[in-house]
Amino acid sequence: MSDGERRVMAAKLLILGGTTEAYDLADRLAALPDWHVITSLAGRTADPRHAAGETRIGGFGGVAGLVRYLDEHAIRAVLDVTHPFAAQMGWNAAEACRITGIPLLRLERPAWTAEAGDRWQSVTSWTEAAAAVRQSQAQRVLLAVGRQELSHFVDIETAWFLIRLVTPPAPLPPFYAAEWLYARGPFALADERALLDTWAIDTIVCKNSGGTATAAKLLAARERGVRVIMLQRPARPAGVPTVADGEAALAWLERLALVGLNR
Ligand code: NAP
Repeated sequence: MSDGERRVMAAKLLILGGTTEAYDLADRLAALPDWHVITSLAGRTADPRHAAGETRIGGFGGVAGLVRYLDEHAIRAVLDVTHPFAAQMGWNAAEACRITGIPLLRLERPAWTAEAGDRWQSVTSWTEAAAAVRQSQAQRVLLAVGRQELSHFVDIETAWFLIRLVTPPAPLPPFYAAEWLYARGPFALADERALLDTWAIDTIVCKNSGGTATAAKLLAARERGVRVIMLQRPARPAGVPTVADGEAALAWLERLALVGLNR
């Protein structure tokens, strides 16, 4: 059978992507003959990396647009592998798959959980996080948030900020007192310890991304009794089966295939 014929026979899967986990899953699935993998990206990045298999870019146009897309492209299963802080796409996928009857799986890296010795304060919005900085009398704050979130903290006069970003924002938001640091994870524990010590950090503000790349700061904070103001993940639709890694996603797909998905 030629590659072209195999692609015609293969069941089409839609991966809602934009994460490392989505790229990894596309790599694994594209290597298997049973699946024709389409990865969807929102289109936020100017020159995004293309995933193994097919890539499409841009929003679908809400639930109705996604239903149309699933129908027109004869999608047989959807894997929602969007970022834990992507608040909307999972809801649209759940509703569109409910309407069309297409199986949906959520793959999400587990959230971090507080352990003995942690001094975490959970918040559910950046506004609440900024209020927590003010109320906690934090003096020296490591702001490990995205550039879009900086505006929530820029008016705080009572604290000095160490602001860690991947690249400089232009223009630099006018913080009263701040130092800017540009670095891309993963961050090693020794470096995170040194960072907290060098800058005498008493508070970290971050979001509960989970995973290992940026977890070391939490361990260093625990060791030092540094307070962590932690943004919790947005709510997810109920009733969507969820797995924590690609292995479990493949097992789910295998079970679907057994009941006739790729006939
Ligand atoms: P969001 O709030 O969940 O989605 C907003 C809208 O963007 C959706 O309604 C949809 O538009 C479109 N969209 C989102 N993900 C899409 C995808 N994979 N393919 C096609 N359209 C998509 O998401 P977001 O926070 O704006 O994030 C956008 C993308 O960046 C996501 O794919 C996510 O995985 C990735 N990302 C987000 C974060 C974060 O912290 N939020 C971090 C890293 C990566 P329509 O309604 O028009 O379909």
